[in-house]
Amino acid sequence: MTGAPDGRIRLTVLGGFLGSGKSTWLRHQLHDGALAGAHVIVNEIADAPVDQVMLRGSADLSVLAGGCACCAGLGRLVALLRELADRRVSGLRLDRIVLETSGLADPAPIVTAIRDDPVLAHHILVSEVIVAVDALHGLDQLASEPLGRAQVQLADRLVITKVDAADMAQLRTTLATLRAVNPMAALSGAVHGSPVALPDFAGVAPLPLPIGSGATAAQPIAAVKLSLGDDIDWTALTLWLSALLHARGDDVLRVKGVVRTPAGRLLLQAVRSTVQSPEILPDDGNDADEVDAVVVIGRGFSLRTLQQSLRSFAGLA
Ligand SMILES: [Zn+2]
Repeated sequence: MTGAPDGRIRLTVLGGFLGSGKSTWLRHQLHDGALAGAHVIVNEIADAPVDQVMLRGSADLSVLAGGCACCAGLGRLVALLRELADRRVSGLRLDRIVLETSGLADPAPIVTAIRDDPVLAHHILVSEVIVAVDALHGLDQLASEPLGRAQVQLADRLVITKVDAADMAQLRTTLATLRAVNPMAALSGAVHGSPVALPDFAGVAPLPLPIGSGATAAQPIAAVKLSLGDDIDWTALTLWLSALLHARGDDVLRVKGVVRTPAGRLLLQAVRSTVQSPEILPDDGNDADEVDAVVVIGRGFSLRTLQQSLRSFAGLA
C-alpha cells in the first residue's frame, strides 16, 4: 500500500448511519482488503468502546472518544491528525489513515476542516469518502433522516451491507434511490464484509425523497449531471465552478467532476463551498468514474440553467 502520488498520506473517511455495518466491513478490509496496513482512527461518541475492542489486533489504532468528530470532537480530530503527521515526519511509516466516524457524523465538516487546515492539507489528502448503507434499513433512513441523505451525498463509494438479508424488490429500490441521490458514487455490495454482486436496477423507480423544511430547504435536494462536450476546457470549467459557488454556495452540497485533459483524467471536487485542489487520477484502466461529466448536488438547480451558465462561461453561448 502506498500514499498519494504527491507523497501525502491518504485519508479515507468511512461513514454510515448507526447500525449500517461499517465496522464489520472495515474489519474485513483491514484483514484482507485494500485498507490493510492503514492506521485506523475510531470515533466513539459513547463511552462503550465496542468498535475499538473489535478492531484491536487488526490495525494500528487511535481512539477519538467523547465527542462526534464532525462537531464537538472536530478540534480533537484535527489535533490527532496533526500529531500523526508530525510522527510521520519523525520517521513513522504511515501511508494511509482510515477514519471510522460515528453513525451520527456528517462527513462534510470533517472533509472541509482537513482541507482548510494548512498543516493538514500539506500532509494529508482526503482520498475517498466511503459510506456504508444497510440494505434492510437504508431506504427508511434516506426517506426520514436528512443526515442519512447528507452522508450518501458526500460518498465517493457506497457499500451496501447485509445484501443477503434484504428483499430483492426493496434492494433494487434502495439502489435506484441511492443512484438518484448520488449519481457518481461507485456502488458495491457486501455480506459480513465480503464483496457480493448487486442486482441490476435499470428502470427501477427511486423512492421520491421528502422536501426539507426551513427557509433554505424549500426545495428538494437533487443531483444534476452535466455532460461536458469537447468544447468545454478545464479553465472554463473551474471559472464556472467558482462563480457558481460564489453565487449559490448555500445551495450546493457537492460537486464532483472528472474531466479528460492533456495531463490525464482530472478529478474536480467541491464539498459545500470548499473546492479541493484538482487531483490527477491514476490510469488504472479500472475506474468507475465517468469521464467528462460533472454532477452538482444541491437545491434549486435545473440541468438547463446549469448547462446554459456553463456554456456562457466557456464563451459558447
Ligand atoms: Zn457530529
